[in-house]
Amino acid sequence: MRLRNIPGAEAALREYPTFVDNPLSYKGNWRERFGNNNPIHVEIGCGKGRFINTLAERHPDINFIAVELKAEVVLRAVQRTEYKTVPNLAFVQYDASKLTELFADHEISRIYLNFSDPWPKTRHAKRRLTYKNFLNTYRQVLVEDGEIHMKTDNENLFEFSLNQFAAERFQMRNITFDLHQSKLAADNVMTEYEERFSSRGQRIYRVEASCVI
Ligand code: SAM
Repeated sequence: MRLRNIPGAEAALREYPTFVDNPLSYKGNWRERFGNNNPIHVEIGCGKGRFINTLAERHPDINFIAVELKAEVVLRAVQRTEYKTVPNLAFVQYDASKLTELFADHEISRIYLNFSDPWPKTRHAKRRLTYKNFLNTYRQVLVEDGEIHMKTDNENLFEFSLNQFAAERFQMRNITFDLHQSKLAADNVMTEYEERFSSRGQRIYRVEASCVI
């Protein structure tokens, strides 16, 4: 996501109660932060945060954590909640390749990957968030039968991801090559990128993949 570098973004983030400044201290203890034993769902690369904010409003019985690489992007996402505390929502600025530093083994129930960067060059394949190394990191932090829900507009990334899921022994279901025309559309929550791509007539691809531990 291209946003201009906002000077002081990291300091500004600390003003927002939904931002977690010391996320490593919660590894294995995220339920303490939320004050309950509800399942934890994580979105990786939340962008401006519309998706995870909407889910948090709709599902107060689930704890949502957004993990986003760039401070200036997290800032845009936390600004949606203004200076309010949202009991089941937390934002973290971190690199998803190091997810095991944030979460203990089998601490989370679901991961959302929405419109992840496609990294189209073959030599950059390892950077794709569905490359096998990432999938094995996700498997470590997900509960048994934990799920990854992926959406993208990029056919090549989708095909690559299906192959990676299969090779790493994830079970796939609810695969659609045109989400907005499918039976899954009714429950779909659009992200900012999704709205932009679908308004241009681009199809949206989606899959759910479960860990087989
Ligand atoms: N999910 C949003 C949407 O659909 O509107 C944003 C999509 S944007 C193309 C991808 C986002 O993933 C960017 O905000 C980027 O900073 C973030 N990202 C990329 N690599 C990441 C990583 N390794 N860890 C966490 N976030 C990452």
